[in-house]
Amino acid sequence: MTRTGEPAGADAGAIEISGLHKSFGANEVLRGIDFRVDAGEVVCVIGPSGSGKSTLLRCVNLLEEPSAGTVRVAGAEVTDPDVDIDAVRRRIGMVFQSFNLFPHLTALGNVAVAQRKVLRRGKRDAERIARENLERVGLADKVGAYPAQLSGGQQQRVAIARALAMGPEVMLFDEPTSALDPELVGDVLGVMRGLAEAGMTMLVVTHEMSFAREVADRVAFMDGGVIVEQGEAARMVTDPDHERTREFLSRVL
Ligand code: ADP
Ligand code: MG
Repeated sequence: MTRTGEPAGADAGAIEISGLHKSFGANEVLRGIDFRVDAGEVVCVIGPSGSGKSTLLRCVNLLEEPSAGTVRVAGAEVTDPDVDIDAVRRRIGMVFQSFNLFPHLTALGNVAVAQRKVLRRGKRDAERIARENLERVGLADKVGAYPAQLSGGQQQRVAIARALAMGPEVMLFDEPTSALDPELVGDVLGVMRGLAEAGMTMLVVTHEMSFAREVADRVAFMDGGVIVEQGEAARMVTDPDHERTREFLSRVL
């Protein structure tokens, strides 16, 4: 185990969460999370609405400030009070349920803009990298399209390309297909599957149990602000240990 300020050891996980608590006023939403995702691992987080899944992801990239505990990403402690938050966020790509694209920018513009503003890449480089990543998500023919001209699944793939273009070390997905019409879900999951196969470290909140079973290395079940259990994906989906997990699965499967 490394301590604050020390360089990452060879055993440092891509994401290491320990003793994480988060309260909103009197509402303790995360009640002590200890969790680790290794480099190249794909972990799905499942659990009922309100169990704290989004808050957990948001604490990893400091969209929420943890009340207690530590979070490390690629060996760097993001919860260190002296941390450069922008530097942390550059290492972590996040994809939300809502795609949050700029309506007045094309797909190319949406993928290029953060690279230019945050990474200070020049226009040519940013646009070249934007094209590469739009191609990677199957949208080479949509670079000039505006969000309103794209389906929800295409917009979400632009959002994934935008995150990838920043060169993140880990990718967080918060129910990336929940806002999509059913026939559009497969394309987005297909892109995510490709990323997983390419070795990207991914922490994915999803209700897509077939994706979890087929793509994830591990599944964690959250309820009431704790990780109730976690384990190898196929076993967690078919034969979990805890009654709460069984009960949840019986509702979503
Ligand atoms: P999940 O993603 O599992 O549905 P969330 O992490 O979104 O759960 O929310 C867990 C709990 O935290 C809910 O009770 C929610 O109302 C509360 N919560 C989340 N974000 C905030 C916030 N910014 N302010 C106050 N309460 C919040
Ligand atoms: Mg949520």
